Amino acid sequence: MPTKVGFIGLGAIGAPMARHVAKKFETTVWNRTRGKAEAFARENGARAATTLQGVIDLADVVVTCLPTSREVRDLVERDGLGWHQGQLLIDATSGDPFNSKELARWLAKLGVGFVDAPVSGGTAGAESGALTVMMGGEAQWVDKARDVVDAFAAKAVHVGPAGAGHALKAVNNMLLAANIQVAGEGLAALVKLGVKASVALDVINASSGRSNVTENLIPQRVVNRSWPRTFRLALLDKDVGIALDVLRQTGVPADVTRVVKQCLADELDILGDQADHVEAIKEIERRAGVEIK
Ligand code: NDP
Repeated sequence: MPTKVGFIGLGAIGAPMARHVAKKFETTVWNRTRGKAEAFARENGARAATTLQGVIDLADVVVTCLPTSREVRDLVERDGLGWHQGQLLIDATSGDPFNSKELARWLAKLGVGFVDAPVSGGTAGAESGALTVMMGGEAQWVDKARDVVDAFAAKAVHVGPAGAGHALKAVNNMLLAANIQVAGEGLAALVKLGVKASVALDVINASSGRSNVTENLIPQRVVNRSWPRTFRLALLDKDVGIALDVLRQTGVPADVTRVVKQCLADELDILGDQADHVEAIKEIERRAGVEIK
């Protein structure tokens, strides 16, 4: 029988992921703001459930894409919600590995599988169905998840047991955050010294300091002053908080990550909950008294 999929969380990245799922599978969606689910269903030939139970009842595989593990656990472990034996939950949230291990154990008691499957590639990668997905869980559930994950992934890797995907994603985003901070600071200084940002980037991107931040984010968002809002700074701050916890729990020094986390928290305070992650550089520019262009 063809797999039926439920998708919970139609946010900036969830909606384009769900669109690819709906092209391949019979799909039922649920979103906290119901109007979004209804519009999605109309536009993508999916069904909008009026209750969470409505999704659970209709789906063999349920995908969650919510801000944090807290919202995932609030919904999934909700009193009275009836999961069925043999169902699978794929959590595409950038979540907390320790929470995910507990959730996997809780679901296993009901005979329900769990795979953490956070994604990288941004909203553009989600639109084109070319995300990188890092999956944690038991092999039998990861194999089952693959069919659905492949709808929005260009690369999907089984990286370890439940929680391993979330741990890897947190480390990835700690690298992203550190790169944003240091690239912003370094380029601000170079512009003040009379080096054009485009010239500095051209050289850095042919040198050893290059990264996704210098190759893509700064040229496409900062230098042209477009500042699109695709991934909230608040979510990156959450990810670096998870990374700090991963370092603490594994007994690894966190000297640099702790400073990066403090920078993000300060910038978030000033820029607010809706600011994009790259707008952290706006705050560096403001403090430096220069525009990177
Ligand atoms: P958004 O803030 O755009 O969307 C969040 C989604 O969660 C919305 O559907 C929102 O519903 C729902 N939601 C929020 N709070 C609750 C709640 N208490 N109960 C039920 N539903 C809730 O986030 P994104 O889509 O950008 O991110 C989702 C996840 O993906 C995050 O973990 C993020 O870190 C990760 N991610 C995001 C990327 C990006 O580029 N945006 C890239 C890679 C990973 P409503 O519509 O009602 O607000």
